[in-house]
Amino acid sequence: MIRLYDTMAREKRPFVPLNPQRITMYVCGPTVYGRAHIGNARPAVVFDTLARLIRHEFGENSLVYARNVTDVDDKIIAAADEESVDPSVITERYERHYLEDMGALGVAPPTVAPHATQEIGPMIAMIERLVGTGHAYEAMGHVLFSVPSDPDYGVLSRRDREQMIAGARVEVAPYKRDPADFVLWKPSPDGVIGWDSPWGRGRPGWHLECSAMIEHHLGQTIDIHGGGLDLIFPHHENEIAQSRCVHAGAPLARFWVHNGFVDMGAEKMSKSLGNIVTPADLLAQGHSGETLRLALLSAHYRSPLPWTNALVEQSKTILDRLYRAAGDGEPGEIDAGVVEALSDDLNTPAALTRLQAIVDPATLKASGKLLGILQESATGWFQGETDADAIQSRIAERAAAKKARDFAAADLIRDELKADGIILEDGPGGTTWRRE
Ligand SMILES: [Zn+2]
Repeated sequence: MIRLYDTMAREKRPFVPLNPQRITMYVCGPTVYGRAHIGNARPAVVFDTLARLIRHEFGENSLVYARNVTDVDDKIIAAADEESVDPSVITERYERHYLEDMGALGVAPPTVAPHATQEIGPMIAMIERLVGTGHAYEAMGHVLFSVPSDPDYGVLSRRDREQMIAGARVEVAPYKRDPADFVLWKPSPDGVIGWDSPWGRGRPGWHLECSAMIEHHLGQTIDIHGGGLDLIFPHHENEIAQSRCVHAGAPLARFWVHNGFVDMGAEKMSKSLGNIVTPADLLAQGHSGETLRLALLSAHYRSPLPWTNALVEQSKTILDRLYRAAGDGEPGEIDAGVVEALSDDLNTPAALTRLQAIVDPATLKASGKLLGILQESATGWFQGETDADAIQSRIAERAAAKKARDFAAADLIRDELKADGIILEDGPGGTTWRRE
């Protein structure tokens, strides 16, 4: 029996799906305008691990997992303006990077990945229903959700009205009837991405897309809704309000599961603080995706995770030891103790402790895979490490050659690596590499 901590109930509850043959999980995905940092990778890895556990428990085809891609947003528009390109150039580039980075961390693609720009029809239809039932109104080309129209607003975050207004950092805008009201649709001036709608040419507000996509792909009430703690308010509160108001009070999700932050000592890791570490950087430094995944799973998902070099090194040491113990054999049966630890609100630290006590290589291998590690052979693991070291030393030789203005030698190194399927990329932070 899986038990999950439900943010709505503020307690751990037995996870009994509505329909065990079609369990539904939705996780708020990336806004694709920049490279994902390790804090963005945490929910991807956590919910991937939960998906593995659910499939182990209920069957390989039991779960429909949806993770959206926000590909229309003011930050995307700003990034596109900066480079004088179409927003799709930005979103396609960073979605590709996101999938590469998460793939390296062993995150399997979700069952469905709805894109905001492909779901405008369902979003407009949802706004029309909200307007029709008096939960939304049009003003100056905007459509706003009327927070006072929903007496249950605030049920997830348990905030009172003053806290809500302060927490949302709302601007008093002339088109708002109430400061807590939030945007469902906003006008797009000429030259800015937009779609025709009953309220003129415009684009959706961010909160709306998740409600519309959940209804479209999963149904009215889903089993699990996930995301980072920072999304509880206002984003998830707003999703709940929108969905419940169009579904005659039916709850949006039966379990609300939130992961904690990755921090850099005292600070949360965030783009705005400029203290980010990206999986791409760490991979380019020669760390393996499994090492980063193990580091992300080393703390319980609801706890803060301080990200340090020591954590990465320690995770690598643990993996080396596990690979030596697992060897090159085939996976066998999954250890019941590992399943039990994961079933207790995804207690990955306990599962990892248990994993390190497993003696039988076949059991170890199968149990590691449930956590998304030990996916390759021990030979492959230790070979990959030798290769990474060798590539780093070739990159250092090339940098030395360039410094000595021996460009022919530098180009030769690059070409030799290319012949081996290794692509070098020179950037402001130095040279990184990737496999072709
Ligand atoms: Zn969302």
